[in-house]
Amino acid sequence: MIKKFIQKILGKPSSSHAATDFGKRVEIPASVHGIDPSLVDDRALSVVRTLQDAGYEAYVVGGAVRDLLLGLRPKDFDVATDATPEEVKALFRRAFIIGRRFRIVHVVYGRGREHEVIEVSTFRAHLDNRAAEQVKGNEKTSKSELAGMKHAVDSSGRVLRDNVWGPQDEDATRRDFTINAMYYDPESQYLVDYHGGMQDANKKVLRMIGDPVARYREDPVRIIRAVRFAAKLSQLGFKLETKTAKPLATMLGLLADVPQSRLFDEMLKLLQTGHALASIEQLQKLGLQKGIYPLLDVVVERADSPFVKAALVDTDRRVGEGKPVAPSFLLACVLWADVKLGWDQRLANRVPPFPALQESIDEVFEARIGDVSGRGKLAADMREIWMMQPRFDKRIGSTAFSLVEQARFRAGFDFLRLRAEVAEVELALADWWQEFSMADDAAREDLIQLAKSEKSSAPATDAVKSRRAPRRRKPASKSAGSDHSGDAPSDH
Ligand code: ATP
Ligand code: MG
Repeated sequence: MIKKFIQKILGKPSSSHAATDFGKRVEIPASVHGIDPSLVDDRALSVVRTLQDAGYEAYVVGGAVRDLLLGLRPKDFDVATDATPEEVKALFRRAFIIGRRFRIVHVVYGRGREHEVIEVSTFRAHLDNRAAEQVKGNEKTSKSELAGMKHAVDSSGRVLRDNVWGPQDEDATRRDFTINAMYYDPESQYLVDYHGGMQDANKKVLRMIGDPVARYREDPVRIIRAVRFAAKLSQLGFKLETKTAKPLATMLGLLADVPQSRLFDEMLKLLQTGHALASIEQLQKLGLQKGIYPLLDVVVERADSPFVKAALVDTDRRVGEGKPVAPSFLLACVLWADVKLGWDQRLANRVPPFPALQESIDEVFEARIGDVSGRGKLAADMREIWMMQPRFDKRIGSTAFSLVEQARFRAGFDFLRLRAEVAEVELALADWWQEFSMADDAAREDLIQLAKSEKSSAPATDAVKSRRAPRRRKPASKSAGSDHSGDAPSDH
């Protein structure tokens, strides 16, 4: 009786695992949380409606809810539901079940570059050996699903497979931080919160749900996620809760068992989501500057060198302006010092410039990128950016015309511009290429003549600088496939 009364006051009782704190379900109305429902992406809204109309529970979940609550613009919208992946797939025309370790459904809207994916995940069960048994009692689960549905955990507690479905409160407990574990129903506009996420958002605390040590052991990538969210939310004054922060450095070794490709992806999220500088600051502050991933170690080590710093600042700026960024560009910047060193050494040994550069690049790939297999395109793009650099010195006839038409010209040019910014090459050279890329053919011929005459009358650079007559322009050539493309040369 008393228990019932307490449950009534505190909310719905959690599921039957007494040992685990599933939190209590708290429904927070719009008048309290203040989320503007019109900011929810239309496609996410349509996914939620379709699922709810079919009789399932469905909510916007995770980072989108967190960002809406904090007044930030969510970068994507995820949906959580009690429908299984097969049931979700059946409701949408273009839906694909993806992942093995963690099966989810991608519901796709639109086509080509404009397409958008709403990720739909089924509520996960509490991570417990009993969960495998429990799921057998769930009549929604098909036989074929059951076969692949046991939690697989390795000896250190790392979760290897995670396709056991459960109720919402268990799903909430499986999420990482309290502010990432809230569910928003855009229809009723209720925010569902089991772990005090709303309170932590108000207090600006980043808190791991449950025992942080156990949660990092379950999935060591959460160590990197802690850094990422601490960096992203530092601008709003958020701090990692002490218990959440403390084990980070000592548990770093666990990352050794995480697949390299996942670490690589997490490194890119640290560096390419608009908070690269803040992430590096957090890594240093938390004692994680070394040991997450070899390439990241190099980034942190070089973060204060003018060229890498300029690249990081530029990346943050671009993301902030909603422009695309390419991993190949940033990594080419980070490893440029090695390429240059090897190149210079070969030049000193009288190897001709292009083979010297090529050999140096091969050596750098061998030493630094060897562990990222299956990333052929990334490596090819980096190589192209580097190989283009000596060609920028050749401001003559057909060479200049063909360089500017290259698919990766924009990236190569942006790289040159950063080099100019740190005085590695003349600013006038970057200015010249900027003008050249935007000029029409006649104006390009003029520029080539100008470069020629500069060559014979030094100093070359002042000639370009002083020559600022308005000229005929044509739209910058678009370099398809380049992430540093599609916009006019940036404003450095
Ligand atoms: P972002 O804005 O960077 O996308 P996010 O919080 O949405 O941040 P996602 O990687 O998109 O991060 O994950 C969506 C949600 O899934 C998270 O908010 C969290 O609830 C849950 N989640 C993702 N990865 C993990 C993890 N490794 N452990 C626990 N929960 C996770
Ligand atoms: Mg997200």
